[in-house]
Amino acid sequence: MSRINELFGSMVFNDATMREKLPKETYKALKKTIQNGKTLDPAIASSVASAMKDWALERGATHYTHWFQPMTGVTAEKHDGFIAPTDDGGAIMEFSGKELIKGEPDASSFPSGGLRATFEARGYTAWDPTSYAFIKDNTLYIPTAFCSYSGEALDKKTPLLRSIEAINKQAMRVLKLFGNEDVKNVITTVGAEQEYFLVDKKYFDQRNDLIYCGRTLFGAMPPKGQELDDHYFGSIKTRVKAYMRDLDDELWKLGILAKTEHNEAAPAQHELAPIYTTTNIATDHNQLTMEIMKRVAERHGMVCLLHEKPFEGINGSGKHNNWSISTDTGVNLLEPGKLPHENAQFITFLCAAIKAVDEYQDILRISAASAGNDHRLGANEAPPAIISIFLGDELTQILESIEGGIDYEGAGGRDLQLGVHVLPHFAQDTTDRNRTSPFAFTGNKFEFRMVGSSFSISGPNVVLNTAIAEALKQFADELEGEKENFTAALNKLIKKTIKKHKRIIFNGNGYDEAWVKEAEKRGLLNLPTTPDALPEFINEKNIKLFTDHKVFTEAEIHSRYEIHLENYCKVLGIEANTMVSMVKKYITPSVAEYIKALATTVNELKAAVPNAACKAEVELIEKLSELLNAMYEDNNSLERESVSAKKIADLQKRANYYRDTVIPLMDKVRFSADELELITAKKYWPMPTYSDLIYKV
Ligand code: ADP
Ligand code: MG
Repeated sequence: MSRINELFGSMVFNDATMREKLPKETYKALKKTIQNGKTLDPAIASSVASAMKDWALERGATHYTHWFQPMTGVTAEKHDGFIAPTDDGGAIMEFSGKELIKGEPDASSFPSGGLRATFEARGYTAWDPTSYAFIKDNTLYIPTAFCSYSGEALDKKTPLLRSIEAINKQAMRVLKLFGNEDVKNVITTVGAEQEYFLVDKKYFDQRNDLIYCGRTLFGAMPPKGQELDDHYFGSIKTRVKAYMRDLDDELWKLGILAKTEHNEAAPAQHELAPIYTTTNIATDHNQLTMEIMKRVAERHGMVCLLHEKPFEGINGSGKHNNWSISTDTGVNLLEPGKLPHENAQFITFLCAAIKAVDEYQDILRISAASAGNDHRLGANEAPPAIISIFLGDELTQILESIEGGIDYEGAGGRDLQLGVHVLPHFAQDTTDRNRTSPFAFTGNKFEFRMVGSSFSISGPNVVLNTAIAEALKQFADELEGEKENFTAALNKLIKKTIKKHKRIIFNGNGYDEAWVKEAEKRGLLNLPTTPDALPEFINEKNIKLFTDHKVFTEAEIHSRYEIHLENYCKVLGIEANTMVSMVKKYITPSVAEYIKALATTVNELKAAVPNAACKAEVELIEKLSELLNAMYEDNNSLERESVSAKKIADLQKRANYYRDTVIPLMDKVRFSADELELITAKKYWPMPTYSDLIYKV
């Protein structure tokens, strides 16, 4: 067996392992649960638990944990030993069906956004059999959903599973209309490309901003940035290569299909792309990937930064959420077919996505909103904060021809009629990848590029699944009554949809200033910051969407809105505090010391050479103290204002205050500090510079 065969999935209780280890009947019943979402019989759970335990013990596991995804965005776990006492004072290894199915972590320390009063601290975790259990650190990890006792979702997995169900239901209705009798199930698939930075641990440890905030709050640009574009796909440094190799091994053991790894645009920036899988598993895998990236980096004396903007002036990091939808019979519904009815089906699903993205621009934007990602979206490196879809010129022309019922040259001069004609062949856009589009069709999937590098991809996929489910529902509602004249009704529906939603299609340069104006003319939303975007989460249209499809209750939506706002405020509060203290404790004393050294030099020079002008030294002292004064004043204001911000009771107002008052002050403090860095002697500067951080890995 090759190395990868031996390694891959070796720590996962996956399908092959289940087939081997479970009694035949148990395996079949479990499989049914996994495929069709049937509820699991408790007797079966006992049988699965017992096999799982034996398998885990063979691999050195001593503990098990229910692994869940609270609304913090990171994962949580509580470990229990398999050990149970026996009557004769000994111990046996035990793991029951009940322990597999349900856990009761203390829920009081996880954010609930008011969903769970603290006196009612209990929540429970429930096994998610659609994501495989795995072993990490001698512990059996059981993927679970996390709910309150009254049934509200306290996590990111539950709504995702609900949204997967919602889109399955509606897509099945549409597929039936196209005569797909063999399809039992529709799944959405995701491949999440992950960008990250690596910095040397010894430099990281000397910067409180990196330690507390995950990003630098100061730092002048080095003489060489990324302008030469020599890093992108450049050769990978030995140390980084060793890291990637090690990372692959760790991920493969857990059955994570890490495939390509390359350098990104910025120095010290890299990317990992996995092979896509079901949305639920892809989400779990991405959480694990982020965790393991960090851990493996430590082993190599480095730190992996997942922040969206670790360095000002250098490209930030995102996560490209590649999304598609396919049947259990293996048909990708976003892939153009060869037969007329296949193409009509493709165009129908494509139009559902177009309609969904146009109607739910706001919640898609919110699914990529955070204090960290605000530094990235709209800067000239990442998609703008305006949502639009890139289809490529050819596909756009095809849609236009369908809409107008006019000839498309590729169609041999006929009226394009869906379900009657074969669509003209269009070349997949491989040359112009259009990296500036937030939402690009790439031949057989959509790539949502706004998502921040540190995000859980649950949020974006909940929105995609639910919004597209709603579009499909409306299509099905309209077409189900028209079975007699299906083709004509479909043509009418598709034309209407294109006409109404084509404003969201934009194939041009999303970084261009002109696009902002054009988008405004088209009536597209432009929500530049997180506090601008968040209120839209709780508007009537969106509450209706989520409650109609049973993805969120109204209370769950409000809780998420609150947690999101609170998180924004907390992040900015921490950043402001860190900045204030770094100025006081590090930058000010260091610059003062340098000034003193210069002044001493002047005094000594004048004592030796009474007429010496000491022009350079004197001017430098003046410039330094001018900047030091400015920084001092602004830093005092920043300290004052961040105290004021914390006192604002209304969360939305507090968030706005951070955006409008605190952030501009942080920018001012930073400006003076960075100017000071440029003229302060290296040996006096109190922290590693950008040059150290990004070039010395
Ligand atoms: P590249 O963008 O480097 O050309 P691909 O387009 O093949 O590479 O894939 C980019 C990402 O999209 C990968 O993570 C891949 O697994 C994912 N992907 C490919 N097909 C699908 C699909 N049908 N559904 C979801 N993700 C997909
Ligand atoms: Mg990509």
